[in-house]
Amino acid sequence: MAKRDYYEVLGVQKGADESEIKKAYRKLAKKYHPDANPGDKEAEEKFKEVGEAYEILSDAQKRAAYDQYGHAAFEQGGMGGGAGGFGGFSGGVDMGDIFESFFGGSGFGDIFGGGGSSRRRNGPVNGSDIQVSLTLSFEEAVFGCSKEISLNVTDTCDQCHGSGAKPGTSAETCTRCRGTGQERVVRQTPFGSMQSVTTCSVCGGKGKIIKEKCPKCGGQGRVRVQKTIKVDVPKGINHGQSIRKAGLGEAGINGGQPGDLYIEIRVMPHKQFVRNGNDILLNVNLSMTQAALGANITIPTLEGEEVYGVKAGTQPESKVILRNKGVWNVRNNKERGNMILTFKVNIPTKLTEKQKELLRQFDDPDTEPKKEEHKGFFGKKKK
Ligand SMILES: [Zn+2]
Ligand SMILES: [Zn+2]
Repeated sequence: MAKRDYYEVLGVQKGADESEIKKAYRKLAKKYHPDANPGDKEAEEKFKEVGEAYEILSDAQKRAAYDQYGHAAFEQGGMGGGAGGFGGFSGGVDMGDIFESFFGGSGFGDIFGGGGSSRRRNGPVNGSDIQVSLTLSFEEAVFGCSKEISLNVTDTCDQCHGSGAKPGTSAETCTRCRGTGQERVVRQTPFGSMQSVTTCSVCGGKGKIIKEKCPKCGGQGRVRVQKTIKVDVPKGINHGQSIRKAGLGEAGINGGQPGDLYIEIRVMPHKQFVRNGNDILLNVNLSMTQAALGANITIPTLEGEEVYGVKAGTQPESKVILRNKGVWNVRNNKERGNMILTFKVNIPTKLTEKQKELLRQFDDPDTEPKKEEHKGFFGKKKK
């Protein structure tokens, strides 16, 4: 069976640049993917054919060899070896990646985009993500707030819209490399002609020539700017969580997508409250008599001070849960955590003689009204 021309397989012109080849490949690979055509032998063959064509044409060296020698370049003794079968080609396209990218939701961009290798230097490169931190007071995190942060970020030049060309002019495709950013150098040697692929000497690998550079960015297409970004912090956010602002990261290159901005939240500690998830922990100090006799005390809550009735006989380190007095759930802004009080009982260290005498009476069995009601120190006082 005669092999079809690789350019024909991908439906592109001979001079097609990297991005056209990549685009054509993605479209066809998706169309003929076995998972999209279960049991279809013809689609399977096409899928293999497309993969093989892309493997050759996406590799500058193999493409150069193919351009010069055609399929013969990959017969026995040729560059690649293993010309025919699908199993024969090595590297390049990993089946696992393709499956994942079609059905895993991440999209092709994650797998192919942003590659730093020189052979796709003139293709779109996505901008980097930026991470900044934002410090909030305890209250700002609990109740939410609106903040402004300023950051230095690389942005697409607003004069040339990223082309790098002076407004009113446009970048031209490099005639030397026809936009591929590479040129092939053929040398005659005693053993025959040798060829190598190098970065285009005219455009420096960009594939484009800017005759008149944009005065603002000097032809870079990107400028460094200081941006002020408004951040609406949702109530209930916690230390260590991040807010993502899609598309506010560094600008992409050659039409690549901008990165994202991640704002990592840091929360300052509170004087009294300790946050545990959406619960608020509060230590409440009681005097020995307040714990023993009960008392109405004032406690701080997120809503301000409240009167709380301490029960008589409250034990040291005992806890009380105040339902729905905690922090709002950052995801739905409705559910709330609890407030958990832990009672600390202060044992006096300085007593007058009279106080000592009164306390000694508690340990005197003669003052015990009924043996079976003995509940220790606080139990007696309660009676
Ligand atoms: Zn510009
Ligand atoms: Zn060039």
